[in-house]
Amino acid sequence: MIPLSLDLPWGRGMSPVHDHRFIDLGARPTAEVPRPQLPRGLGRSYGDVCVNDGGVLLHTFRHDRLLAFDETTGLLSAEAGATIADIAATFLPRGWFPPVVPGTRFVTLGGAIANDVHGKNHATTGTFGRHVTALTLLRSDRADALELAPGDALFSATVAGLGLTGLIERVQLRLERVAGPLIEQETLVFRGIEAFHALENASSAWPFTVGWLDTLDRHLRGVFFRGRFVAAEGVFSALATPRRLPPISPPRWLLGRPSARLFNALYFRSQQAATAARRRVSPWVYFWPLDRLADWNRLYGRCGFIQYQFVVPTDNAARNVERVIALLREAGVASYLSVIKRFGAVASPGLLSFPMAGTTVALDIPSPDTRTFEVLDRADRLVLEAGGRLYPAKDRRMRPETFKAMYPQWRELEALRDPALSSSFWRRVTASCAPHA
Ligand SMILES: Cc1cc2nc3c(=O)[nH]c(=O)nc-3n(C[C@H](O)[C@H](O)[C@H](O)COP(=O)(O)OP(=O)(O)OC[C@H]3O[C@@H](n4cnc5c(N)ncnc54)[C@H](O)[C@@H]3O)c2cc1C
Repeated sequence: MIPLSLDLPWGRGMSPVHDHRFIDLGARPTAEVPRPQLPRGLGRSYGDVCVNDGGVLLHTFRHDRLLAFDETTGLLSAEAGATIADIAATFLPRGWFPPVVPGTRFVTLGGAIANDVHGKNHATTGTFGRHVTALTLLRSDRADALELAPGDALFSATVAGLGLTGLIERVQLRLERVAGPLIEQETLVFRGIEAFHALENASSAWPFTVGWLDTLDRHLRGVFFRGRFVAAEGVFSALATPRRLPPISPPRWLLGRPSARLFNALYFRSQQAATAARRRVSPWVYFWPLDRLADWNRLYGRCGFIQYQFVVPTDNAARNVERVIALLREAGVASYLSVIKRFGAVASPGLLSFPMAGTTVALDIPSPDTRTFEVLDRADRLVLEAGGRLYPAKDRRMRPETFKAMYPQWRELEALRDPALSSSFWRRVTASCAPHA
């Protein structure tokens, strides 16, 4: 069962858009529909890259067939609506796994390419787009389907192209051979970003690493997870079906700083108990702990939440991360779940790919209001001064001037954009003035 999110982004908090027309695929971008169209996967982007206010969404989730697999090379051909969930469940028992997986398995291949997503193994493996060996693109201004490969300008623009260069119809992806069906995992606690970096440096034998960070704690305590696939004869990881939350939303007052502090303290304590213990877990648990609850985003109530994800380059990364987090903490911006990752120097293939060699932090900020936006504008300036950038897949508020400074290549994408395609995100960040919604 895949929980569908048909009109809102994952962060919710935007008014549902009622004038979307849902066209099932088979449909392709066309100049005959007068309103802007946008390909849509499973809506797991937190902000408005998957929203097209007043326009038309081209849904791909029913076009999810796995078409062919070559057991010798690991090359998989599939329709763009196929999900990481399906691919992992189908191929892990045969010793293969998607080369890069984000923190939820409910994403489509098209969505994973259009945001050039990263996983816990970025340092060694780079982004998702690096493992795409070919794709088929449908555009409104071309009658034929375009077959694209790495090296083509339109391929680079389509990877991290935010769905704007055309509709990805089919994908060829190289899967990774894995040692076995389980993940061997170690959990370690740390205090401060330097300590996190030291753990990263000492983890070359562990390809999958990630940290949880208590951004409300002055010492920035955190928990570091590292994992690797291991053999386990005759074991197949059972796939847990996500549970659904009862249809009630917590009130806004409950989601403030005190409850975030309490949540973080309890989480830290629960993980501290497991420190240094080595255990074997299913990849579903290691890679996708949040997927156990199908609609956990509803825990943030009607006003939803923002995920603020930035990256800063390796030089002075610790100091720059600390500056941004200190700004948010001192301004009273609470975050429940904050994740820290190290990005490696492997070049990203997309024109607008987010990762760069450095450190990235993602903070879930509940019920954002005008004041939160003002504080985040200040945080953006720190990120920009440090030579870093924000992740469009998570954004719904950065100002046009910020986006243009962080992604000066945006004009090249604009030049290759399918004229029939647009998104709420693109209209917002390429606008010439900067009102906050
Ligand atoms: C719990 C959670 C954890 C996450 N963890 C990570 C993480 O670790 N790393 C990371 O990088 N991201 C992460 N994400 C973000 C998520 O991986 C991306 O937003 C992903 O792109 C969502 O895919 P989707 O299929 O839902 O696409 P959507 O959100 O529906 O769309 C995303 C973009 O893809 C475009 N698109 C979709 N299908 C096509 C197509 N067929 N052709 C052309 N364009 C298309 C859309 O137009 C849109 O611009 C996470 C999200 C969640 C909810």
